[in-house]
Amino acid sequence: MASYDYDLFVIGAGSGGVRASRVSAAHGAKVAIAEEFRVGGTCVIRGCVPKKLLVYGAHFAEDLQDARRFGWDVPDCRFDWSTLRDNVLAEVDRLNSLYENTLNNNAVEIIRERATIAGPHEVKLASGRTVTAGKILIATGAWPTVPDCLGAELGITSNEVFHLESLPKRIVIAGAGYIANEFAGIFHQFGSHVTLINRSDKILRGYDEQIRDRLLQISMTKGIEFRFNAAFEKVEKAADGSLLIHVSNGDPIPADVLLYAIGRTPHTVGLGLETAGVELGERGAVKVDADGRSSCDSIFAVGDVTDRVQLTPVAIREGQAFADTQFGNKPGRVDYGCIPSAVFSHPPLAGVGLTESQARDKFGNVKIYTSDFRPMKNVLANRNERALYKMVVHPENDKVLGLHMIGPDAPEILQAAAIAVKAGLTKQAFDDTVALHPSMSEELVLMK
Ligand code: NDP
Repeated sequence: MASYDYDLFVIGAGSGGVRASRVSAAHGAKVAIAEEFRVGGTCVIRGCVPKKLLVYGAHFAEDLQDARRFGWDVPDCRFDWSTLRDNVLAEVDRLNSLYENTLNNNAVEIIRERATIAGPHEVKLASGRTVTAGKILIATGAWPTVPDCLGAELGITSNEVFHLESLPKRIVIAGAGYIANEFAGIFHQFGSHVTLINRSDKILRGYDEQIRDRLLQISMTKGIEFRFNAAFEKVEKAADGSLLIHVSNGDPIPADVLLYAIGRTPHTVGLGLETAGVELGERGAVKVDADGRSSCDSIFAVGDVTDRVQLTPVAIREGQAFADTQFGNKPGRVDYGCIPSAVFSHPPLAGVGLTESQARDKFGNVKIYTSDFRPMKNVLANRNERALYKMVVHPENDKVLGLHMIGPDAPEILQAAAIAVKAGLTKQAFDDTVALHPSMSEELVLMK
């Protein structure tokens, strides 16, 4: 049998790569993981975690305002971006150390340099060293897409947004997906003027239409501007350092910061995958089978680099399944059905299962139940923001096919409700559950 330096060499220490390497090592494999930037990957270092902390920070703007209606004497408050930014970055540092400790405690060797594929069992390190491995796992994630237009380099991406020197007075966000809507909410709450520009006339493609329409309506009422059907033309920098963004639709838009949020491209460029005959699919994603195996028998891939479902918990499950199957003698595959997801906009929205239009395409005549209500707290706060919950039910067997919601704490509520949807429970099972009163989530068992 051939002998290699490692049983497993992982490229990329993000959510999928870290899980795969530490579990494989715990199963007894000799594992190394290469990371050119910081252990933790997009989610921990420049994605979900720091974003969620900014969302919390942003929410205080409304909470402080609402507090007055609840009897609190709140003096005029001032927001200091640099305090929040630095505290968030310090928390990222702490988590980065925890991730490194986890790898060290599991005897995973961390190699802090760029690694590329040099053959089916060979990896070349930036320092020039070549190492061999029985199996190689590509877990390099995805990278923010930047438009191809004149002056595009004047914009930033979600990689840089956590490090801004100061809060922009005006920010233009290109795209209308997850990142665009989350940062629109964040910057708006901090007091920036926000404009979203998108090539189509839809926000958050893939989410239920009624739910995203509600977010659009609330966002517009708050003062966030939208410029739809607008193709990017060029970006210019004025003498005072501000930007002028030219789009196909309407006048150029002045801004202090331009943030691109037009999707994330699998990170495979320059990885040497061709040297091992690894086939790439659309957008350069590594093509894999249900076990994460690429067209080269010894090379596997998990997470965003495969461009299946670009979500951290999915990458983690893929990493776990890979490790258990390949090194733990416990074959397993990821179940991609009924994956809940959320957008941490203001207010947040969340969904699981089929949207109304997906269900109609599949089953024809489905039953729809909704609850459109103003949360009790918003009523007393004089905040005219309504929540909307929607349940999509199978026309014959009463099974809940999808659940979608927008309103305070929607992601927290949906995670619990997703268990019921995943378990295939019926609308009757929801109705049979006594309401927990007074709460917003009781609407789930009271829908008519
Ligand atoms: P999304 O895929 O969510 O949205 C992309 C947006 O950019 C869409 O509005 C799309 O328009 C537009 N767009 C796409 N390509 C182009 C182009 N070439 N030129 C102009 N506009 C374009 O991407 P994000 O960058 O917001 O996020 C990337 C991924 O990261 C998400 O898909 C998600 O999987 C993950 N993510 C998850 C989060 C969460 O779970 N809360 C948070 C942040 C990111 P159109 O509608 O026309 O397609």
